[in-house]
Amino acid sequence: MQIGTRIGTPLSASATRVMLLGAGELGKEVIIALQRLGVEVIAVDRYENAPGHQVAHRAHVVDMTDPQALRAVIEAERPHLVVPEIEAIATDALAAVEAAGVAEVIPAARAAQLTMNREGIRNLAAEELGLPTSPYAFADSLEQLKAGIAKVGYPCVVKPVMSSSGKGQSVLRSDADVEAAWLYALAGGRVNYGRVIVEGFVEFDYEITQLTVRAIDPVSGKVETYFCDPIGHLQVDGDYVESWQPQPMSPKALERSREIAHKVTEALGGRGIFGVELFVRGDDVWFSEVSPRPHDTGLVTLASQRFSEFELHARAILGLPVDTTARGPGASAVIYGGREERGIAFEGVAAALAVPGSDLRLFGKPESFVKRRMGVALATGADIEEARARARAVAAAVRPVSGGAAE
Ligand code: AMP
Repeated sequence: MQIGTRIGTPLSASATRVMLLGAGELGKEVIIALQRLGVEVIAVDRYENAPGHQVAHRAHVVDMTDPQALRAVIEAERPHLVVPEIEAIATDALAAVEAAGVAEVIPAARAAQLTMNREGIRNLAAEELGLPTSPYAFADSLEQLKAGIAKVGYPCVVKPVMSSSGKGQSVLRSDADVEAAWLYALAGGRVNYGRVIVEGFVEFDYEITQLTVRAIDPVSGKVETYFCDPIGHLQVDGDYVESWQPQPMSPKALERSREIAHKVTEALGGRGIFGVELFVRGDDVWFSEVSPRPHDTGLVTLASQRFSEFELHARAILGLPVDTTARGPGASAVIYGGREERGIAFEGVAAALAVPGSDLRLFGKPESFVKRRMGVALATGADIEEARARARAVAAAVRPVSGGAAE
């Protein structure tokens, strides 16, 4: 594929083919952005009718943690670009695909390898790059966890090394909490890996996602780093419930955030968007995590930027120029399923969209769970307070109901 110079016709011999590994709500928006640029898109997820499957040229159901199965679908489809949208992937198979020149991995196979595990990225950020992080230790047993806690102190946070969205994560305030936290982490890891990280609790004023894009500068022809306005967000039990942009910050804190984001994304390399998660207190900034792909808190950019994080990702991976200009204050609020059922319905959508400055995404997930993200409310406003109030009103108006209940 001639990066940045040529796009073919989908479903023809000239097609520019991109495969998304993970086709949830974030992947779905990336696919739509790619489709608009005339790209042929193949969506892979582990279950049928995933949100991205519904808008792709072709859909596959594959266990992406199985290296043979992953390699087989890539060999069968021969995409030019392979774009991981989730962490739970056999990343060694991606490295093999990249090394053999079968496809280009976005942003790079090494980035996927380092970020699929909290250990890889923490070692890179804290030890190799010397970025400020919370104090931390790793543990494979209850005894090691106790030793780790002795090092980082209370309060602290225990997380499985292979997990995301707050799964298996708990905050510990005293020795009485340790055993329960250990067992909870073991049960909540993505794979039962039996290894945890314990981090000192950072008493931050607020936390942000610094969306950072590595894209080819059309003038120099080289990869440059571009920043979006900082996104503030609210987390409940380690899961994002609201986000807004721009998060007000002191000039020093913003400068430090971007320095950290620049360093860590440069170390990961390649092209694409990255969600750099940072904790801020006063002018001090701590690195927390990075996703080498669009970030869930960045759903707000569907309302607040000229090009959403998904469109920026699509452009960057295709070698096209990006534009991170803000449109104005915006906010997002998560809509949960609230019930355990397949084929639910949503009521109150008209009322939701009657809120001024509002927009909505319903992801089309085939099965609802109480705490499953099924949609997102979006809003703009004169300032972030107004945008947040509107986004909350939109989310509150949308009511998940039984699919059999309506006429
Ligand atoms: P994570 O899964 O690591 O992104 O953590 C989810 C959320 O938990 C973060 O966005 C923070 O709100 C909170 N959190 C995680 N680690 C820490 C920490 N070391 N100190 C304070 N809060 C934390």
